[in-house]
Amino acid sequence: MSATTANESRTSQSEPATEAVGRLRATFNTGVTRGLDWRVNQLQQLRALLVENEKELLEALWADLRKNATEAKMAEIDLTVGHIDETLASLESWLQPRPVEVPALFGPTTTAYTNYDPLGVVLVIGTWNFPVHLLIDPIIGALAAGNTVVAKPSEISVHTSAVLSRLLRQYFDADVLTVVEGGAEETTALLAQRFDHIFYTGNGTVGRIVMAAAAKNLTPVTLELGGKCPVFVAPDADVDEAAKRLVGGKFFNAGQACGATDYVLADPATAAALVPALRTALEAQFGSTPQTAPDYGRIVNERHFDRLTRLLDSGQVAVGGRHDRDDLYIAPTVLTDVDPASPVMQEEIFGPILPIIEVAGLDAAIAFINERDKPLGLYALTTSEATKSRLVNETSSGGVSWGQPGMQVLVPGLPFGGVGESGMGHYHGLYSLETFSHLKSVVDVPLS
Ligand code: NAD
Repeated sequence: MSATTANESRTSQSEPATEAVGRLRATFNTGVTRGLDWRVNQLQQLRALLVENEKELLEALWADLRKNATEAKMAEIDLTVGHIDETLASLESWLQPRPVEVPALFGPTTTAYTNYDPLGVVLVIGTWNFPVHLLIDPIIGALAAGNTVVAKPSEISVHTSAVLSRLLRQYFDADVLTVVEGGAEETTALLAQRFDHIFYTGNGTVGRIVMAAAAKNLTPVTLELGGKCPVFVAPDADVDEAAKRLVGGKFFNAGQACGATDYVLADPATAAALVPALRTALEAQFGSTPQTAPDYGRIVNERHFDRLTRLLDSGQVAVGGRHDRDDLYIAPTVLTDVDPASPVMQEEIFGPILPIIEVAGLDAAIAFINERDKPLGLYALTTSEATKSRLVNETSSGGVSWGQPGMQVLVPGLPFGGVGESGMGHYHGLYSLETFSHLKSVVDVPLS
């Protein structure tokens, strides 16, 4: 560990943003961050932080979201460590200059290639629903690309934010990575600084604030936002299997996932058959009293609890509906008879409420999706290749996943990101290196 007490004192929360950014820029300007060894060392530090402090991080995640240890280890620790390992295994080859063909006109000795150039100082702003993974995952790319970093965890996941901030200060030299804790006020102060890239995960309203601030310095942004991810359940799907897949794609982390299914589109007969199948699948997953189930999460705070319980009036509660504010518990809930104009269909749900919207069939489902903002994920449960082909070619979304909602997020070789209202830019693996680098063109016309 490269921890020093001097570093810790230099990254105190009261340090002005200008000083922190100035210090990180000075480090970048020495050129030290460009070397492969430096990058590998930083990634190994990040890996050690996660592996050596897993227990403490899991306890904080339980305190914030009642994430059970198995789920939290898988989605927050192991997934992130896996991304570090993939980057460590491939970074050297990714960084090799890529030769490009040169027109014959330029002569036989002229060569051309592309080079990944680090950007400088990067700001990473995290969110609360996967507070470890969604802060560390972009940092992997930022460090692998040879940048210095300001990390801003979400104040909403208060326990995880505190633990992660302390650990980042302990494991990283403050000249390399600085943590700034806080909410809107602290983030506003940070956004007044000039960064070389801003990577933001969260909602579109703040995304617009981030982008407006970045525009002042022509700073490029990646916005990882949310939206309403639809799932089309086709009449050819086995409803019992479909219900199991829906439960997996919706109620993980009590529905507080950007790639979670937001609502179901199905024809009336399929919709009617889904309700009892969902009741059975939910009981198989969480038992008859989900409030006591060890693997069922809680809503992050009262504000989100109140927002979600207001949405329960948007249709008939066909399954679930129970809630307990003192315990921040909302039962896995299925709503039917939902008017597309009702509140639950106006905003991203981001909680354990699943509305079923009846449509006449595939044509109507495609029209329904295309009338709304472009979602982060589009899903379908179908055995029909023709249905998949129509959905992928006739709609726009960040990604698609057939057969199991949300899987596009988990394949490391795929770019992860949204389009339109669900965001801009993408990351993971080589795409993270691209995001946090400038792809520089180099031409060499030999003098002799
Ligand atoms: P949040 O409240 O934690 O906010 C995100 C970040 O923005 C925090 O760090 C917060 O401090 C900062 N912030 C809040 N107000 C600000 C302001 N006025 N100015 C500057 N910064 C400010 O998280 P949230 O927005 O509630 O997160 C939920 C949203 O994030 C959902 O829409 C979800 O779909 C989306 N999300 C997207 C992804 C993805 O990868 N695409 C992942 C997770 C969540």
